[in-house]
Amino acid sequence: MSKSLPKRSEDYSLWYNELVKRAGLAENSPVRGCMVIKPYGYAIWEKMQRILDDMFKKTGHSNAYFPLFIPKSFFSKEANHVEGFAKECAVVTHYRLKNAEDGSGIVVDPDARLEEELIVRPTSETVIWNTYKNWIQSYRDLPLLLNQWANVVRWEMRTRLFLRTSEFLWQEGHTAHATAQEAIAETEQMLGVYAEFAEKYMAVPVVRGVKSPNERFAGALETYCIEAMMQDGKALQAGTSHFLGQNFAKAFDVKFATKEGGLEYVWGTSWGVSTRLMGALIMAHSDDDGLVLPPMLAPIQVVIIPVFFNETQLAQISEKAKQIKQALEVRGISVKFDDRDTQKPGWKFAEYELQGVPVRIAIGARDLENGTAEVARRDTKVKTTYPLENLDAQVADLLNEIQENIYQKAFQFREEHITKVDSYEEFKNVLDTKGGFVLAHWDGTPETEERIKEETKATIRCIALDAEAEEGTCILTGKPSGRRVHFARAY
Ligand code: AMP
Repeated sequence: MSKSLPKRSEDYSLWYNELVKRAGLAENSPVRGCMVIKPYGYAIWEKMQRILDDMFKKTGHSNAYFPLFIPKSFFSKEANHVEGFAKECAVVTHYRLKNAEDGSGIVVDPDARLEEELIVRPTSETVIWNTYKNWIQSYRDLPLLLNQWANVVRWEMRTRLFLRTSEFLWQEGHTAHATAQEAIAETEQMLGVYAEFAEKYMAVPVVRGVKSPNERFAGALETYCIEAMMQDGKALQAGTSHFLGQNFAKAFDVKFATKEGGLEYVWGTSWGVSTRLMGALIMAHSDDDGLVLPPMLAPIQVVIIPVFFNETQLAQISEKAKQIKQALEVRGISVKFDDRDTQKPGWKFAEYELQGVPVRIAIGARDLENGTAEVARRDTKVKTTYPLENLDAQVADLLNEIQENIYQKAFQFREEHITKVDSYEEFKNVLDTKGGFVLAHWDGTPETEERIKEETKATIRCIALDAEAEEGTCILTGKPSGRRVHFARAY
């Protein structure tokens, strides 16, 4: 294997970038801010997609697909929405190239200007509500519960693989309802789906909350979010669910005939998670030797590596290894038997460690004689000798244990990185020395939030749904506050 990774404690950012590349997850593309997702990275994303998609279907949603290009005029229909996205839009102006007359190469044909410019979707509310106008006439057409899996483009200035890219993959749910209560219930339900996915499958504990008005989605009345904590003490917004009120229905004139014979605007929600989740997964668990993947999302859950010195030994070990592989597969566990003779076992050990394969089984000639195998877990690096008999059951249990352990470790880290502070000095001090979530009183105004952000780079990540009522005073202005909010520096 190539040289070791940079250490997290020395340069967290470099460690992350190198890890993403060396573990074969993704790499930069010729276009700044865009990335190539490599097969191993895509395999993890596919697992995420499959699980999430099942969860969406179970909660009554269907998939559909809407176009990549949105007429520019659609954006001006919802004032807040256009303001929020205008600064990061990719715009298509022409539809043809031609050879330059002076022979200098290919140029945009000035005669092929589009009559109306097109926006490459940064999010699809506008095109979808424009369509919903034709689909919704009466209460019988509601609720409309759709999701799409797609790519979107937001021309981000500061990018980082997976966490913030100019083009990213995501799903966006867009639902339409007859009442505000129903839409709010949907918004909350989807937040619950995201939180469950993060905690149960990604093994990443999250804080559920609502955003302050400053951080709200452009065009929403309320933005719910899940916030995760990375190992460097920075927070990451891992998913959002928006209550759109009647904003988009009004902008696109989507009304429905009520049961009582009236005519009302439809209530809406939208919700999304993106390939940023890959970044969260990597940053939350991995170590200086490489990825640490929770078994539920690992493309390869178990790798079997034969340790042999000649062909005869390999043949004997292979026979046993294949039996183990089959027994594990019957249990729904994905297994790779790496019998390549082009690489030494030690090289393979390091490679699968880098790739975060949760369990490694090594079998040598001596093991065969003893009827045992060496089982190493990636999360704790502990190696144990297990009898070959019943190995599949043991490994199945071990995978569950690893999943749980990874979650507990991340949970403990998160708990250790929540600090209550009561003064601005203390607030700044905690941010600079320890990071993490800082629970502090805030007077509820956008001005205060903005000033704190300017002075400390910390933002209000959310007002936790389970925040207890507590009388206090704002750390900056001393004005009264009814509860603490979660501040943090964030990605
Ligand atoms: P939003 O539509 O802004 O609520 O974002 C929906 C989801 O996409 C959220 O989970 C964001 O964390 C994520 N997201 C937003 N911008 C980016 C980006 N540039 N790259 C990757 N993910 C993003």
